[in-house]
Amino acid sequence: MILLYHHVKPEVDDEISISLEKFTKHMLSLQDKTVVYLEDYNPSDANQVVITFDDGYKSVLTYAAPILKHFGYPFELFLVKDFYDKAQQGDEFFLNENDLKSLMKIGGRLQYHTKSHPHLEEISDYKKLEEEIAAPDYMKNLDKSGFEWFAYPFCTYNDMVIEVVKKYYKGARTGKWLDGGTIYTLGSVFVKDDTILSEELSFDEQVCDLCTKLFHSKKIKEFFKYLFYKLMFFVSFGEKKEYFRAKYKEAKKRTETY
Ligand SMILES: [Zn+2]
Repeated sequence: MILLYHHVKPEVDDEISISLEKFTKHMLSLQDKTVVYLEDYNPSDANQVVITFDDGYKSVLTYAAPILKHFGYPFELFLVKDFYDKAQQGDEFFLNENDLKSLMKIGGRLQYHTKSHPHLEEISDYKKLEEEIAAPDYMKNLDKSGFEWFAYPFCTYNDMVIEVVKKYYKGARTGKWLDGGTIYTLGSVFVKDDTILSEELSFDEQVCDLCTKLFHSKKIKEFFKYLFYKLMFFVSFGEKKEYFRAKYKEAKKRTETY
């Protein structure tokens, strides 16, 4: 089974988000499964699960990462070039290079999800399709073991799209369960907040404890960082003072997110 997530947030306010509590419950319910990368995935093995996130949203780092790290699950991040570029220019909605590095440290692998997130089946020009589907080198350099798998935006494709994808990738994921059934049309479960995985129901009580524990400890860590930077700000001069001012303000902002 391949699970497809987008956002994980404390409060669900759209169709592509799942609540932090629900996500924790899903992760708890996977403890008896074998969570693998796409590379090692055998679709006919009912015990295997692949966790994937599409589009590269910052909420994956903020909310999903502490839980993934706790369980030590590997996971795949399908990135869109234009969204990544925005993040590099300061857009806080998407994951930037540093965020991706932090996620890779805890088991994240980077894969591709097009240049601009278009409806690929509507593009009839072969060259344009290639431009959308082939990942640029500066992104590929971020993860030497990544960018070998592809995910179709909106889960739509046609024969020509698959032909181009085959040129650049080992396989591709769609968003529908039992879709296609080949390595280039791997089906997945598009997880929404009301998606119930079997086995998850027995975790209602554990989930609250774990959420509180994980996020409480992260908040405390961030708070100590804030205190440290603020202290350094008071005792330093000149350029260093400005550096620590920026640092403690950033840390303060982070404590407020939890
Ligand atoms: Zn997408």
